Amino acid sequence: MQFWQLLQDNTSLALVLFGVLGLCVGSFLNVVIHRIPLIMTYEWRSGSVDLLTEQKDIAVSLLEPIQAIVTQDTAINLSHPASRCPHCGHVIRWYENIPLISWLVLKGCCSDCQQPIGIRYPLVELTTALLSMLVIYQLGVTLPALAALLFVWTLLALIGIDHDTQLLPDRLTFPLAGLGLAVNSQGWFISPTQSIWGLIIGFLSLWIVVKIFYLLTKKQGMGQGDFKLLAVLGAWLGPMMLPFIILLSSLLGSVVGVILMRKHGESRPFAFGPYIAIAGIVALLYGQDIMSWYLGRY
Ligand SMILES: [Zn+2]
Repeated sequence: MQFWQLLQDNTSLALVLFGVLGLCVGSFLNVVIHRIPLIMTYEWRSGSVDLLTEQKDIAVSLLEPIQAIVTQDTAINLSHPASRCPHCGHVIRWYENIPLISWLVLKGCCSDCQQPIGIRYPLVELTTALLSMLVIYQLGVTLPALAALLFVWTLLALIGIDHDTQLLPDRLTFPLAGLGLAVNSQGWFISPTQSIWGLIIGFLSLWIVVKIFYLLTKKQGMGQGDFKLLAVLGAWLGPMMLPFIILLSSLLGSVVGVILMRKHGESRPFAFGPYIAIAGIVALLYGQDIMSWYLGRY
């Protein structure tokens, strides 16, 4: 525990260390954001074929072409196969995969085909590093801070995946909700009771809004994933923080929505999850300050 003590006594050392850790985690988050939708698609496709094969009333001749397509799919996971350049298939070597630095040294281009590598990779790494440092700065080198890091990192993965695919995978939201209940069973952020009510109210509040919206307009305004994400934030931060999160995410979402509509002309499929998640991160880091400032004013 001497090292832990050293970090607690030396804030700048802790910030540097967690910044570097954040860069590495950000590099892993790039993989998670890219691959989890691919893994899910693979599982859906092969699962659908298994399901169809079990149906006795579907002729084998109908199934064979579909089976042929699915057997061509290669199973992937988070560590296999090795990352490749999407343009030329060049396998990325370990020294080309150092967060941020490799991108800068390679000047944002593949070392083989010289095609550009998206700016988003170093951006995700940098954002993860800065937010990790901010968590440590706000919460200190403590166990709740380590839990908060897991919270922020998972939300960053969800932001990326929802932005790309309009999906908020249960395999990320469910464990994060469970972790929120677990850490608050120790009262790390809020009381156990607040955590349970946060989970329930978080889910129901959006669910009710969407049901009413549907009854009035016959349109699905939001996905199931958004309710689950708000439930997660409720379990971590409590029901008192939910109005703030809903307000901030609606504000951010509508500002970006208007900008996108001006830019692209018409309304396009729009993921709301990223704004809920961003509001959740703000609420974790500054929610208490903002609430007491607001309550102090009135
Ligand atoms: Zn290449």
